[in-house]
Amino acid sequence: MIETVLETEGLTKYYGSTLAVDHLDLKIPQGCICGFVGRNGAGKTTAIKLMLGLLRPTAGSSRLLGCDSQQLKPAIRQRIGYVTEGHRLFRWMSIAELEKFQRSFFPKQWDDKFFADMIEYFNLPRRRKIKHLSNGERAQVSLALALAPNPELLIMDDPTLGLDAAIRRQFLEGMIELIMRQGRTVLFSSHILGDVERVSDRIVVIDKGVLRANCSLEEFRAAVKKVILSFADSTPAEVDIDGLLHCRRSEKELELILVSTTDDHIGKWADRTGAERYHIVKMNLEDQFIEFTAPPGRKKLFRWEEI
Ligand code: ATP
Repeated sequence: MIETVLETEGLTKYYGSTLAVDHLDLKIPQGCICGFVGRNGAGKTTAIKLMLGLLRPTAGSSRLLGCDSQQLKPAIRQRIGYVTEGHRLFRWMSIAELEKFQRSFFPKQWDDKFFADMIEYFNLPRRRKIKHLSNGERAQVSLALALAPNPELLIMDDPTLGLDAAIRRQFLEGMIELIMRQGRTVLFSSHILGDVERVSDRIVVIDKGVLRANCSLEEFRAAVKKVILSFADSTPAEVDIDGLLHCRRSEKELELILVSTTDDHIGKWADRTGAERYHIVKMNLEDQFIEFTAPPGRKKLFRWEEI
């Protein structure tokens, strides 16, 4: 049976009058790489801090590895890896010193060979101080430090922020290394949908603190569709197709963003409304995400008008 390693129930956080996380009900099964995505200010960092017990919720609860996030015992914390936004590390230490320091918290489970392999893979200068490393190198040290204790659950907040494409690729491969070890789970937030598409098998979408999707990447890819329909004279006044998220119209064309509408249903609806022709536009994950989280009423600069 697949276990749930991360679970939230009605998790809510207000900062004063700002609602950052709004009744989040989330379940993440063991053994997946889960991309946690949302626009700027959507509530990802807040949700992650709540999950790790670093912030107190206004309401609701969360559990990691079966344990309440507000009462994570050291023994449970040792099974969880956390990579923060910005990779905050002691700047005055060298990589070697930081390794020694970090290892002391995980005397039984620290994998020396794995750490050494990662440092070699990333080609990092062991004796250099953290303050003299580049952003990318600091991110790589962070990942090596987080993975060396062989965590069952790895949570990372925008770990590849500011890294170049090649370093990001290496970083993600390092992350995949972890998941190859059986039963490990990764939740990582990112704004780079191409990365999420490359490595994740699950996606969680949050928008203004509200959970909008929590499913396999495959399901999400299949569910969000853009359809363009052309009409001989004018577009129908009413657009009543199931799963309609956004509708933009020009004089003779409709552009629809649909969620969970089957191709068969789209075909029948196109026939019924007298469309001359229609096509389903292929979108990558980034296009799908942008459409899925677009606020209603957003106008395009050219041609289209929202209805
Ligand atoms: P980004 O992708 O830009 O990093 P995010 O999805 O991680 O954003 P959060 O940092 O969790 O979003 O912020 C969610 C909301 O809570 C935002 O409106 C933000 O302005 C607000 N917020 C975050 N931290 C605080 C704080 N300490 N005090 C007040 N408001 C905050």
